[in-house]
Amino acid sequence: MGFMQLFKHILGDDWGVHPDDHKRPAADQPVRVMPVPAKLYLPLQQHLGGAARPVVLVGQRVRKGELIAEAQGMVSAPVHAPSSGTITAVTEITAPHPSGLTLMAIILETDGADEWCELQGCDDPFLLDPAEIGKRVAAAGVVGLGGAAFPSAVKLIGASRAKVTTLVMNGGECEPYLSCDDRLMRDAATGIVDGIRIMLHTTGAAIALVGIEDNKPEAIAAMQAAAAGFDNVQIRPVPARYPMGSEKQLIQVLTGIEVPADGRPADIGVIVHNVGTALALRAAVREGKPLISRLVTVNGNCASQPGNIEVRVGTLAEEVIAFAGGLKGDGLGLARRVMGGPMMGMQIPHWRVPVVKGTSGILAFDTVEVSEQEPNPCIRCGSCIKACPMGLLPLEMSARIRNEAYTEAIGLGLKDCIACGCCAYVCPSKIPLVQYFVHAKGELSAQDRAKLRNDATKKMALQRQDRLEREAREKVEAAAKRKAERAAAAALAAQTTAG
Ligand code: SF4
Ligand code: SF4
Repeated sequence: MGFMQLFKHILGDDWGVHPDDHKRPAADQPVRVMPVPAKLYLPLQQHLGGAARPVVLVGQRVRKGELIAEAQGMVSAPVHAPSSGTITAVTEITAPHPSGLTLMAIILETDGADEWCELQGCDDPFLLDPAEIGKRVAAAGVVGLGGAAFPSAVKLIGASRAKVTTLVMNGGECEPYLSCDDRLMRDAATGIVDGIRIMLHTTGAAIALVGIEDNKPEAIAAMQAAAAGFDNVQIRPVPARYPMGSEKQLIQVLTGIEVPADGRPADIGVIVHNVGTALALRAAVREGKPLISRLVTVNGNCASQPGNIEVRVGTLAEEVIAFAGGLKGDGLGLARRVMGGPMMGMQIPHWRVPVVKGTSGILAFDTVEVSEQEPNPCIRCGSCIKACPMGLLPLEMSARIRNEAYTEAIGLGLKDCIACGCCAYVCPSKIPLVQYFVHAKGELSAQDRAKLRNDATKKMALQRQDRLEREAREKVEAAAKRKAERAAAAALAAQTTAG
């Protein structure tokens, strides 16, 4: 059975959607490298997990690559200076989030010298102990560059403990408009394959399967050439279909094994990393370079010159757009600003938002690209059910969530929803289904956090009560003891006087 037939046999023909990919001409343009901007805005939280803690003071001079905020806790990542200059503030800035809320960031005024700090690389990472590689990757602040921004070292170390056998490399880049991974695979295939081999050494996995959608023939050819001679790195074209880049879908297509509903890939001996992450990991281990820049796709009908730009982390989106040629008609036709992809990315309120480690795209959409129709009532067409790659009932789940019946929505599989957006994409009534699911998941985790807080508060109140009672008891006992000692001393004094 050929691979494509196997794919159809495993998943059937109906799941997912085939959005117009809008990847070219951006994908075919050579990468442009953006000069260092005058100011960089570096959020302390650019990753999943605990926010980093600043280790620099306002007024302090730093060199490129220097640690400016350290990781806090088991799941976290440090932040490094993307260029040399002076720290001018640690303050709140607009988060790359639709809410327009703020988050803490370090502001770095660059000095134009772009002077590196000292770096500790390694000529032969294959001689290093996997634990040492994990430490170097953690110290370099490498996070998943596919969008989720999970700290890579945590995943690598976890995989080596879980004794995974297969490394699945995600070169799918299934979201429309984005092409930064495509460009990286075309231009830096040798480095990516080297990074994959270092990942294999670190995790102990026997084989790496690199899934690349078949709408990227140039990337497939470049990666196949780079992997030639390495039997344990196999390049596997997969059909272009959204959400092929979702972890669970890609694993199933490449290995034929399904990740259990409540399970993790490691439960079936698999770990998934993005191809861009492999390149960042290679730079961290071989050259000692922290993650301070990335490739970002600028695209959308309003972008004058769509393409991929190499950008320092912390650069404002408005400066990236200006460097990329600005917006058509000075942005008069602009209907939506998005960071990330159109399906899973985030709308942002304005362009004064910085590129962070997980920013794959800056998209400027016009009204043609953004359907401005108000949602209509559900016509029970069933398209959302057909499109759902997880086999869920999106219309039923959204109805429960509208009534705040979260437990019923969980019963219908809410926790299995991967927020891919396929259901919302195909819905003829334009019902924002995925927004309901993201909202409900947020509500549920807020409730979980509130319960944890309440439990912790109750526990502390009980401990306080115990402490107060113990202190009162000890006070009474100490007073009684003092009284007895005074009485004994008085008796002794009386005896001495009488004698
Ligand atoms: S219900 Fe969730 S997993 Fe299914 S299509 Fe909608 S967003 Fe994707
Ligand atoms: S696709 Fe939209 S209109 Fe059709 S059943 Fe689902 S929610 Fe209803």
